Amino acid sequence: MLIQPIDLPSPNFRDREGGPASVDMLMLHYTGMQSAQAAIDRLRDTEAQVSSHYVVDEDGTVYRLVPEHLRAAHAGISFWRGRRALNEFSVGIEIVNPGHEWGYRPFPAPQMDAVRALCVGILDRHPIQPRNVVGHSDVAPNRKQDPGELFDWAGLAAAGIGFWPEAHGKTAEPDETEAWQALESIGYETQWPLDIVLSAFQRHFLPSRVTGQLDAFTMARLLEVQPDP
Ligand SMILES: [Zn+2]
Repeated sequence: MLIQPIDLPSPNFRDREGGPASVDMLMLHYTGMQSAQAAIDRLRDTEAQVSSHYVVDEDGTVYRLVPEHLRAAHAGISFWRGRRALNEFSVGIEIVNPGHEWGYRPFPAPQMDAVRALCVGILDRHPIQPRNVVGHSDVAPNRKQDPGELFDWAGLAAAGIGFWPEAHGKTAEPDETEAWQALESIGYETQWPLDIVLSAFQRHFLPSRVTGQLDAFTMARLLEVQPDP
């Protein structure tokens, strides 16, 4: 599937401080607004000061707002694997969905087909490790829930996008110290309460169980996802 984005330029970009070669992350969002048009308008509004590189509509139409070599303003205050201010390093895709505030709903198949094809192209163009394919909630767990627990991270991983080891439904004795170590080694910022960080982890890696609780399934999943020591 070849993606041919429709250009809808946004004025809300800057040069990347380290130049185009800075890109080593891919960040996925949902728009969280009542309509695609409202989201696109906001992402192109000088006053709003926000943008993304791409918007993917529910029918699979892809819009390009900012070229990948430039820095878009989609991440905000953010942290992953020891780094902050992730707009500098990332390509951002906004996926149209009303989100938890306006009626969160499944991402339709044509939209996911386009997201996958777009991601494959981005990964071809930049040296992005699987562990650097993240959701907005991963990098800002205290204030973001997107793209959320209905997003098909497993399907993306099956297409070679991102890190998402198969879930085996194992259990392990919950241990808070070990859980924090796992969360930190995966990449999460650990200054927030445990339930906040666990919810973000669950949204991405254990989406059937977004409770914020450290139960035996979540503990086992943390151990599955953490890098080998
Ligand atoms: Zn977002």
